Amino acid sequence: MQSTMQDVPLLISRILTHGAVIHGSSQVTTWTGEAEPHRRSYAEVAQRAAQLAHALRDELGVSGDDRVATLMWNNAEHVEAYFAIPSMGAVLHTLNLRLPPEQLAWVANHAQDKVVIVNGSLLPLLVPLLPHLRTVEHVVVSGVGDRSGLAGTAVRVHEYEELIAGRPTTYAWPELDERSAAAMCYTSGTTGDPKGVVYSHRSIYLHSMQVNMAQSMGLTDEDLSLIVVPQFHVNAWGLPHATFMTGVNMLMPDRFLQPGPLAEMIESERPTHAAAVPTIWQGLLAELTAKPRDVSCLGQVTIGGSACPPSLMAAFDELGMRVCHAWGMTETSPLGTIARPPAHVIGTDEEFAYRLTQGRFPAGVEARLTGPGGERLPWDGESAGELEVRGPWIAGAYYNGPDAELLRPEDKFSSDGWLKTGDVGTISPDGFLTLTDRAKDVIKSGGEWISSVDLENALMSHPAVAEAAVVAVPDAKWGERPLATVVLKEGATADFTELRAFLAGEGGIAKWQLPERWTVIESVPKTSVGKFDKKVLRRRYAEGELE
Ligand code: ADP
Repeated sequence: MQSTMQDVPLLISRILTHGAVIHGSSQVTTWTGEAEPHRRSYAEVAQRAAQLAHALRDELGVSGDDRVATLMWNNAEHVEAYFAIPSMGAVLHTLNLRLPPEQLAWVANHAQDKVVIVNGSLLPLLVPLLPHLRTVEHVVVSGVGDRSGLAGTAVRVHEYEELIAGRPTTYAWPELDERSAAAMCYTSGTTGDPKGVVYSHRSIYLHSMQVNMAQSMGLTDEDLSLIVVPQFHVNAWGLPHATFMTGVNMLMPDRFLQPGPLAEMIESERPTHAAAVPTIWQGLLAELTAKPRDVSCLGQVTIGGSACPPSLMAAFDELGMRVCHAWGMTETSPLGTIARPPAHVIGTDEEFAYRLTQGRFPAGVEARLTGPGGERLPWDGESAGELEVRGPWIAGAYYNGPDAELLRPEDKFSSDGWLKTGDVGTISPDGFLTLTDRAKDVIKSGGEWISSVDLENALMSHPAVAEAAVVAVPDAKWGERPLATVVLKEGATADFTELRAFLAGEGGIAKWQLPERWTVIESVPKTSVGKFDKKVLRRRYAEGELE
């Protein structure tokens, strides 16, 4: 029997129109580094998105599923591009401005970008790349920055504001197939070459609804969300779409991502929510320790992208900023789990431990654990295996270029179509995921696994340690042993005997897991999205040679 329900495609244009009409007075505030930030209402953003779509179609000849790339910070114009490009039927490709230039060129060529919308402040990055970009015909420049480097290049150059000025402020958004491509994002390549993930209108729509659930981020139009996680990093965790559904006000930091300006933004604009990877928050914490400020407005801080160190969560609690830990990947849109403790532990001693897990799976994300021999493992909170997931906002393949089949590498997709996350962990009987490591980062010592994350978290709770990253180094007897690289806080001292004793004592690390190799480093190398880059550390210490 067929249902009797209407079949209305789940389209990004519908999210846009809803936000513009129902939450027209909600605002996107962009930090400018000047006395007053720039403020634009949702209604204005929607009108300008329509103008941009007209310009892209009529002036630049964008049609069909042409790829329109953005090389931009988080700001109102980037939100306009987020809605205009997919709503008109084209495909938004957010370029990760922190990728090494050769990877950036590779990614833009692979996606066949026709247009690049770029912030003026990022032209020094784009201009040298232009001769290598085979398909780019147009560059649209928005915001401050020296344009002189563009003179004499082969592309047609447009000014964003001039391009959209005077065009109609409404657009007859086409009725697209909800399964068609809306946006693409390449994985940041922490563990290999970038791979293209292509989101559909439907996947983004459903993911946004999930982000808005009370047990997820659950924000409303009373909230102001400081979106630090870049719009080029998995669609800023879905926030720009989700906020347009519920009228959440957005605070966009543009290029002002250093701890000082972030603290200033929080103090003056009083956001109620913020989202970023742990390294950003570690930096902010150091800033607030050096120069205390009232940040208690931040009722919810979503932390994900890598494990939230317990010491960070505890320190934020002290400051009145409540951390909510979440897990996800480019391939999962990204929200896969979020750690809101179950009702029965709220206010008990167990609550903190629940908050430290990666969280529970929302409706829409199915999960299973697979052991080394391919066997299914129970959800008993103890059996550790590789996490596999499936659902309507989980990738089922990678984009393999315009004329090629989709790519489904065996190590990333099971034969029955589940995404193999490469993350190793346990799931409790009540569905809370605890990641112990990435499959590639776990230290295999004498047939046992040592979690690099556990060692790092324990080290980072030592008062002298600012950051710590642990990698496997070859060992003649055990196969692999952990090497701890440690960054000390400014002016702090600690020797390895002391740190080792700390790990074994307060750190709760079993004796056989204690690293016997240590080195102090200036800073932990970071990936393009601010995560510890263990590939670099592994390369540096591959032979077990300490500096
Ligand atoms: P990349 O794989 O290139 O780093 P992603 O941003 O997609 O790009 O990273 C996804 C990975 O980040 C996950 O597979 C997982 O290993 C890690 N990750 C994300 N969130 C968390 C978290 N809360 N705790 C631990 N690891 C996390």
